[in-house]
Order: sequence, then C-alpha cells, then structure tokens
Amino acid sequence: MRELKILWLHGQGCSGCSISVLQSSHPSLEELIKAPLRELKIDISFHSLFTPVNFFGESEGSKLLYELSNDFLLVIEGSIPTKDYDKNLVLHVEREEIPFAEYIKKISLKALAVIAIGTCASFGGINALDPNLTGARGVWEILGSEYKSKKGLPVVNVPGCPPHPDWVIGTLLDVLLYILGMGMTMDLDEYNRPKRFYEKTVHENCPLAGFFSETIFSKRFGDRGCILALGCKGPVAHGDCVERKWNGGVNSCTISGSVCIGCTEPGFPKEFMPFIYYPPKPLPLIIPSPASIIYLYGLYERDILEKLLKKKVRGEEQA
Ligand code: SF4
Ligand code: SF4
Repeated sequence: MRELKILWLHGQGCSGCSISVLQSSHPSLEELIKAPLRELKIDISFHSLFTPVNFFGESEGSKLLYELSNDFLLVIEGSIPTKDYDKNLVLHVEREEIPFAEYIKKISLKALAVIAIGTCASFGGINALDPNLTGARGVWEILGSEYKSKKGLPVVNVPGCPPHPDWVIGTLLDVLLYILGMGMTMDLDEYNRPKRFYEKTVHENCPLAGFFSETIFSKRFGDRGCILALGCKGPVAHGDCVERKWNGGVNSCTISGSVCIGCTEPGFPKEFMPFIYYPPKPLPLIIPSPASIIYLYGLYERDILEKLLKKKVRGEEQA
C-alpha cells in the first residue's frame, strides 16, 4: 500500500485554521484520513498541534523535515516572514538554522501539491497589516506565480479567517483525488481559490438580499433591512458561507445579523477596515456645573498668566 504523507507547517498565525478544521463533520478530519482511497494510506506526518511532536527526538524530526519522500502533500498555515527572516522564524534542522521562507522554497519543489490554509498563508492576512514589520506574505508570493508542484498544480489557496472546515477538508480531498488521477480537475479562480467553494459572493444568497434590492438599509443592528450601510462587505467577499453555514450548518455571519468582514479576500483585513460603520451620534448637550465653570476659568486664567510670564521672561532674556 502506498503512503501519502501530509506535512502541515505553521508560519505566522494563531492556529485558528487548525481549530476550525477540527470542527469538520461530514467528513471529519479523522474520517478523511481513514477513508479507503485506492490502496492509499494518508498519514499526517507532522502537525504542531495534532501530532505528538514532543515525542520526536531531534534526529527523527530532522529526518522528517529533511528527507521526505516525494509522495507528500505540503500544507501551510500562517504567513511567511520575508524581512529579517533569518531572525523572525527559523527551523532548527540538524543543528542548522533554516529561515522558514527558505525551507518552504526548498521543500515545495518536492511536494505533490502545496495548499495554503487560511488568509494569512494565502495572502498575508492580519500579519501583513501596516507596518508589517516582518514583511509577512502569502505562500504563493514566496514561491512565485510560475510555481507548479510535482503534479503540476499552483499553490492552492483556501482563505478565510478562519476558513470553513468544509473548504479545507473538501480541498484536501479534491487535491488527493487529483493526485491519484481519479478524474478530479482543480478549477481555481484568479486567486487560486477552488471555485466550488469561492465562486459566489456572500451577497448572492444572503437572506437580506431582498432588502438590498428594495434599498431598505438598516441604520442600527437589529433593525429590519440589509446591513450594507453598517459595513457589510458581502457584495465583494467570496465564499459559500450563506448556503453552507458554519458550526455544522447552524448559522453564518449575515444570517445572524452581523456584517461580513470580507475575510476570504486578498487585502483582508487592511482593505476592509473599519469592519463596522457606526452611524454618527448627535453631540451630547453638556450643561457644565458651576463648579466646573470656575475650575475651567481657573485653568484659562492660569494659561494666560503662564503665557504672560513666559513673555516677560523671554523679554528679559532678549534684553
Ligand atoms: S447584508 Fe450584506 S451580504 Fe446580505 S444583502 Fe446586505 S450587503 Fe448583501
Ligand atoms: S460571511 Fe464574510 S466574514 Fe463571514 S466567514 Fe464568510 S467571507 Fe468571512
């Protein structure tokens, strides 16, 4: 039986994507791994949360990171630092320090496919916010637009902050079937996102789209209407969040009455802030108490006195 190793590495991220994947249900991550796939055994060889890395001796870890066979799938979560990258994120392999970006470039040449999980790994995400001290970038920016894996695939991006577990598990499965030559084609959009999850905008199937068409816009959360004027980015954000729903098909951002913040898009979060537009509040009518008037007058007087004093001192100095 052939074995396909999955090497799941973390760049700069919060591990939220992995936690999201653990919520997968139909199928779960465990079911995917145990699925009978044509004489193929899937093995998550390394994941800093899912595999017992602490039980690896240094030599075992080094061997795994250096001497992988050619049959492996590279999954990357988190962005890649490009400024001072020898200091920002390094791997210690056989007592040698390897910058993460260098390791990714090297190992991706041997990978059957490279999948970037989450918006940080896809486009830089939160870590790329100004001033972006570490020069955080997405994997495909590191590998370049010409990059093709051993099976001829570009970096497959599965953005989302975090991505829906179905998007991750579904993409992993599609890539596996593609690798096995089982008739699956990888249909990607201009940002290398699988079209079957990211083709539509959140707005297209939003239950509030009727209000949008009728130009009925809420001025406050909880009011009847579309929440575009409160900051919803659904018309430009891609993902089947509304049809698929989150938490095992329970709810989604806009169905629950919250705005879509555009978490699947390149440029998120920078280009999508502020997330919520609060309507301007009327200025409060302040009636100061007599005591505060006296206090303020005192400050004002002191200010005048200080200015006079400074003038006097300067005058004396100049004289
Ligand atoms: S709430 Fe957002 S996604 Fe829903 S209809 Fe309004 S703009 Fe579109
Ligand atoms: S609705 Fe928008 S913010 Fe919510 S998960 Fe989908 S793309 Fe992200």
